[in-house]
Amino acid sequence: MKKNRATLELSKDEMTNLGYRIVDAIVDHHHTQQDQLPVALGSRKEMDSLFLEEAPEKGVESAKVLDFVLEHVMTNSTNMAHPKSYSFVPGPSNYVSVMADALATGFNVFSGGWAASPAAAELEIITIQWLLKIFGFPAKKGGGIFTSGGSMANLTALATARRIKCGSDFSKAVIYLSDQAHSSNIKAIRVLGFKKEQIRIIPTDGEFKFAVNKLKNCIAKDRLEGLHPFCLIATSGTTNTGTVDPLTELSSICKQEDIWFHIDGAYGAAAILAKNGKQVLKGIEKADSLTVDPHKWFYQPYEMGCLLVRNHKFLSQTFTEKPEYLRDIEGNTSEINFYDHGIQLTRRFRALKFYMSIKTFGLQEFRKAITYNFDLAEAVEKRLRKSGEWEVVFPATLAVINFRYHPLGKKHNANTLDKINQYISEHVVASREALLVTTILHGQVVLRMCLINPRTTMDQVQETLDLCEHFAKECPDNQ
Ligand SMILES: *Cc1c(COP(=O)(O)O)cnc(C)c1O
Repeated sequence: MKKNRATLELSKDEMTNLGYRIVDAIVDHHHTQQDQLPVALGSRKEMDSLFLEEAPEKGVESAKVLDFVLEHVMTNSTNMAHPKSYSFVPGPSNYVSVMADALATGFNVFSGGWAASPAAAELEIITIQWLLKIFGFPAKKGGGIFTSGGSMANLTALATARRIKCGSDFSKAVIYLSDQAHSSNIKAIRVLGFKKEQIRIIPTDGEFKFAVNKLKNCIAKDRLEGLHPFCLIATSGTTNTGTVDPLTELSSICKQEDIWFHIDGAYGAAAILAKNGKQVLKGIEKADSLTVDPHKWFYQPYEMGCLLVRNHKFLSQTFTEKPEYLRDIEGNTSEINFYDHGIQLTRRFRALKFYMSIKTFGLQEFRKAITYNFDLAEAVEKRLRKSGEWEVVFPATLAVINFRYHPLGKKHNANTLDKINQYISEHVVASREALLVTTILHGQVVLRMCLINPRTTMDQVQETLDLCEHFAKECPDNQ
């Protein structure tokens, strides 16, 4: 028996050495990342040639495995926390939360139910309360849950909206979102089993906001046809342009029509901590449910999303099941079992990183960082406007700016401009110097910078713009 026993343990020395080396590697990475290239490129073939093997029957020393991983895995991953990672939504992260994640994993805290870990449940309650207050949600009645990310928060929200507004018959239910809503919402709608005929994608106006009049017409028509408008998804901070939908107006439509008002704030909601952000996000407090994504602009490492709801009972009414194997840990109602508030039973302890980073830096530092992001994006806009080479296609909004190469004095047609800007992005990425990709606005290819990294400087942005200009000048279509 003993001979064949395996406890999957290392000696104390080996544990310590492995741990210290990993911490050293993380700290070193953080301090030298400015001098590294942010972008990793690599084909399946190249990755296969590095990693493809059968699961080894016999192990090797942990130090050797770590050497290999540091050399080949970490170096072949794009660094979304790099100051020159401007694309999609960067993940600036912060070291305190990284260590908190290590701690939570190290102790393998089960964050599903109260009985298993009262402190973990309590910290989730407390940090959710901090967020409820930040977003002006009802402090006593409100509730929420941490999820893996914004996609899962949106899915949790729509499942809740449907349960509360439709019960178990949703055959006539109709859901409304704009053409700028994030793709995760459509995914969630599909996962929930809605038919295509139950989805209304409403066009946006010139500023990419929900066209309110078209929405009203659509709702009225659906009612006339005997359908049941039940949920509207607004966006506070669209992925393309950072645009915030007219939240107050949409909220009053939802109120009149008895429609669930969900706001997808995965990208932009954190901006509420900055003064300008608070103004732009007016009305966010009126949502029935709000998606926030702390692993974006709250500077948390992956994975951490969050759903807030006006009334915590919405969640328990949607997700509570009472199987016999959980009967001994039900507890009383003030002691929340988060497995009754969302989809997961076994959950990692996500609240810890949020808690430790806010305790360590204070909300004030978060406010400063987010304000800096706003200011940087506006400074970049100013600089672009002053130059004869660049055109601002959409002004800095919630730290996102869209622009394109469009030099004065040269008469390029629309197609040529698209080609040049595509060329710029492709060559910048291929150089690995910066992560800067394009998007399409009003049918034009544009470059998009998302400037939520508090460690990005104006000088670094200028270096990237210079690099863009260099590629623009060598582009064959620009001769
Ligand atoms: C990023 C994002 C999502 C998806 O969040 P994940 O954390 O990537 O799952 C949803 N909505 C918006 C507006 C986003 O920006």
